Amino acid sequence: MAYSIAIDGPAGAGKSTIAKIVAGKLGFIYVDTGAMYRAIALYLTRNQIEGTDEAAVAAAMDQVEVSIRHEEGEQIVLLNGERVNHLLRTEEVSRMASVSSQIAAVRTRLVELQRTLARTTDVIMDGRDIGTVVLPDAGLKIYLTADAHVRALRRYKELTERGEPCDLEAIEQDIIERDHRDMTREISPLKKAEDAVEVDTSAMTIDEVAERILALYRERRQTA
Ligand code: C5P
Repeated sequence: MAYSIAIDGPAGAGKSTIAKIVAGKLGFIYVDTGAMYRAIALYLTRNQIEGTDEAAVAAAMDQVEVSIRHEEGEQIVLLNGERVNHLLRTEEVSRMASVSSQIAAVRTRLVELQRTLARTTDVIMDGRDIGTVVLPDAGLKIYLTADAHVRALRRYKELTERGEPCDLEAIEQDIIERDHRDMTREISPLKKAEDAVEVDTSAMTIDEVAERILALYRERRQTA
């Protein structure tokens, strides 16, 4: 049977960075579910559809096909056949994703795609509801967190290094707002699964976090 590792947590906790490293070490496929919500958000943005308009978003879902491919360990996201990876990380798409992900029609569609991917392949999947809703039987569940200020600083550094002008306070505010929406929404809110191990990365290096998760994985497999 395929083995799954679920990683949930708030924006900027380091989920995707860590999941990629762990996937590489274990030979698992890394599934970034946030990118799927972002692809839908990109479609809505392009078509000027309000993310809060439930009927319009549900109708748009009939026009949208999101699919995933893996090339050399990299997840390729296809929106109606178009490769959109490079368009998904803007602030506009981030905000739209956190709004439109509250809509049931969006979640139902993407959860189905995520479960299909995990059925036949060993995966490490990150998101907000993986341990609680998408893969409740995952062999290892991690809840990755970090202080909001630390997460904002990491994002600020990342953008500055890329030469993108940004404002630390605005980033922190945005992160706090997104967390609030993700944690208080009605369907599949972000929360730690009861059987998840919480890892606070505020004072940890990337290598330390990856090592901790690999150690937990080895422990689980030995006792399984
Ligand atoms: O993880 P990332 O920041 O790319 O996710 C973008 C948005 O997609 C999140 O703010 C959240 O609202 C939504 N999301 C979700 N469930 C997931 C993954 C992401 O609701 N499993």
